[in-house]
Amino acid sequence: MPEVDSHGRAADLIRIEDRWGAHNYRPLDVVVERAAGVWVYAIDGRRYLDCLSAYSALNQGHCHPRIVQALLDQASRVTLTSRAFRNDQLPPFCEALARICGMQMVLPMNTGAEAVETAIKAVRRWGYTSKRIPRDQAEIIVCENNFHGRTTTITGFSSEPLYRDGFSPFTPGFVTVPFGDIDALEAAITPRTCAFLIEPIQCEAGILIPPDGYLRQAAELCARERVLLVADEIQTGLGRTGRMFACQHEDVQPDVYVLGKALSGGVYPVSAVVSSSEILGVFRPGSHGSTYGGNPLACAVARAALRVIEDERLADRSAELGAWLLYELRKLRHPHIKAIRGRGLLIGIELLVPARSYCERLKELGLLCKETHDFVIRLAPPLIVSEEDLAWAVGQVRKAFEG
Ligand SMILES: *Cc1c(COP(=O)(O)O)cnc(C)c1O
Repeated sequence: MPEVDSHGRAADLIRIEDRWGAHNYRPLDVVVERAAGVWVYAIDGRRYLDCLSAYSALNQGHCHPRIVQALLDQASRVTLTSRAFRNDQLPPFCEALARICGMQMVLPMNTGAEAVETAIKAVRRWGYTSKRIPRDQAEIIVCENNFHGRTTTITGFSSEPLYRDGFSPFTPGFVTVPFGDIDALEAAITPRTCAFLIEPIQCEAGILIPPDGYLRQAAELCARERVLLVADEIQTGLGRTGRMFACQHEDVQPDVYVLGKALSGGVYPVSAVVSSSEILGVFRPGSHGSTYGGNPLACAVARAALRVIEDERLADRSAELGAWLLYELRKLRHPHIKAIRGRGLLIGIELLVPARSYCERLKELGLLCKETHDFVIRLAPPLIVSEEDLAWAVGQVRKAFEG
C-alpha cells in the first residue's frame, strides 16, 4: 500500500522537522521532494502548481535547465575564492546586472536582508561624505508596513509587532511615514535625511500598490531635496510586475536598486546593491564585505538567471498573462472577497475573512498559495507559466470560492 507508506513518511518528516527545527514558520503541510517549471511534486506523488514562487525567487520557474546547467558547470570549476582574490565570473556578472539596471556599479551579497543592510550603509556614508550631514545624525525615511528583511536593524524599523516584539534594542536613525502619502514624505524630510527606502509595491503587507503618480512624485521630491531614493525591488524586480523593475511603471530611475530573490532563479542565494559609482564609491577596501558575496558559483548562476529573464521575455509575459489573470479573477463574485489587485503576475485577493482556510482549500485543489498578512491570498506563479496552466489555475480558484 504505497499511499499509506508515503502518507506515513510525510507525517514522519513533519514530526522530525517540528521536533528538531525551530518553529519560525508555519508552512502548509505539503512535503515537496522535487519540482520542475511551475509544478512541485510532494512525496505522496501529488503535484501542485506553485503560486508563490518562493516569494518571487522562482520567476524563471523551478530548476530551469539553463540555470541548473550553469550551476553544474561552475560547481566543478571553482566555487569560492573569497574577495581576497579575483575570479573570472564576477566581472561579467557585474557588467550584465549594471547594464540591465541602467546603473554604473554592482555590490554583490547573498541574501536580500544583507543587500538592504549594504544599501543602508552606503546611503549613510554618502550622507556624511557628500551631503555633509553632521556625524551620527543621518536619517533614513521608511514606510509603514514595510518589509525589508529580518536582521535586527531592519526589524527595528518595521511597524509589524510580530516581526519586532522581543528583539529590541534597535538601531536608531529611521523615520516612518505612511506608504503612498507624498505630503507625509515631504514633511518628514530634514537636512539630515540621506535616503528614502521603499518597496514600489508592498508585497508582504498584502500587495499594496501606491496611488498613481506617487513614486514619480517621490522621486522628484527626493531629487530636489538631495535625498537618495532606494528601491527595494527584491520581490517586485526582475520581471515580476510586468516590467523589469516596478519603478519603471512610473518611469522612475531610483538612485539605488536592492535586488535578490529571482536574481538567481531560486537556485542559490544571490543579492546585490546596484547604483552609481558616486554612491557605491563610498565603500573603500575594508569598509564592507562578505565571504560568499560575489563568489564565482553565485555569479555564474545569477548571470544565467538574468539571461533567462531576457531571452524568455519574462517581463512581457508577466504583463500579458497578469492582465488576463486579473481580468478573469475580477469576474469572481463572492461575499468574502473584498478586493482584487495586482501588477503583472503579482496579484492579491483580499478577503474579509482569514485567508489561511482558502489557502488550505486551494492546496486540496492543487494550487500552492500562501496567505500574506492574514487576509490576502497572493497569486504569483513563475513567469514561465503557460496560458493553459494559468487557465486551469483560474478554474481551481473559482472552485475554491464557488464550493
Ligand atoms: C524577501 C524580501 C527581503 C529579504 O530577503 P531575504 O533574502 O529573505 O533576506 C527584503 N525585501 C523584500 C521586499 C523582500 O520581499
